[in-house]
Amino acid sequence: MTNHRETLIGKRVPVLDKGWIELQDIMGDDLAIVNAARVSFLGESKGPDRDKKLLFYLLKHRHTSPFEQVEFKFRARAPLVTWWQWVRHRTWSVNAQSGRYTPFQEDDFYTPDGWRLQAEDNKQASEGILTGPAAAELTEHLRAHYEQGFALYDRAIKAGVAREMARLFLPGFAVYYTWVLKVDAHNLMNFLRLRMAPDAQYEIRVYAWAIYEHFFQPALPWTAEAFAQTIVSTLGPMQD
Ligand SMILES: Cc1cc2nc3c(=O)[nH]c(=O)nc-3n(C[C@H](O)[C@H](O)[C@H](O)COP(=O)(O)OP(=O)(O)OC[C@H]3O[C@@H](n4cnc5c(N)ncnc54)[C@H](O)[C@@H]3O)c2cc1C
Repeated sequence: MTNHRETLIGKRVPVLDKGWIELQDIMGDDLAIVNAARVSFLGESKGPDRDKKLLFYLLKHRHTSPFEQVEFKFRARAPLVTWWQWVRHRTWSVNAQSGRYTPFQEDDFYTPDGWRLQAEDNKQASEGILTGPAAAELTEHLRAHYEQGFALYDRAIKAGVAREMARLFLPGFAVYYTWVLKVDAHNLMNFLRLRMAPDAQYEIRVYAWAIYEHFFQPALPWTAEAFAQTIVSTLGPMQD
């Protein structure tokens, strides 16, 4: 089995216009999952073929606890609209940058590539893209809104207002925050299943796909293969 730690730890992947996700640490590998399952009868590895077969059996039959023996720790920068959804996953341990300590900068806001249209069938979803001059105009308005919000924030800070209050002027959902997050492989798969799906919002889907392609697959190739067969094949590819 290849040593994934050296190539993956510290790797940073850009996401959205100013965001990123990097792997800070990882504990365990596919073999750790197999060995955790085999402790039931005080056994361990029986060679790659039988180990891989056992791992596929575990995932297929939802014998999930051995997958909790592997842990990933990430650091990520994402807009609040993404975090708003991410923190609903209670099985992640998280620590966040504090807007009470850290002043925001004028370019700390997310500007989307385009404007998705409201889906007709699904009240929570989007479909298609706004085209024509209206799209460019909306982006200009958004940038002006960010400038104005930041100018008011800056004015409040310069007037001596506490950072915890001055931030009321910032365009909330668009502000980028940096978090540190830790999760085990079982609960990561639950997150990926829900947030890589086409009905998840694009701004979290891109983070889920980045984790899946850049960290989960190379760190746990057997688990990722089994997960791809049972789950990912039903989701379809990442689309804009
Ligand atoms: C497309 C989409 C739309 C959504 N829309 C909304 C919405 O409109 N409003 C809204 O509020 N949320 C919404 N959510 C969030 C959703 O309801 C879940 O809170 C979120 O996806 C986290 O999933 P989870 O509970 O499986 O994950 P985790 O919180 O990581 O939990 C993993 C698993 O652990 C178990 N678990 C964790 N905590 C508990 C607990 N306290 N009690 C019992 N079992 C527990 C459960 O089995 C759970 O599946 C949406 C999610 C998606 C993907």
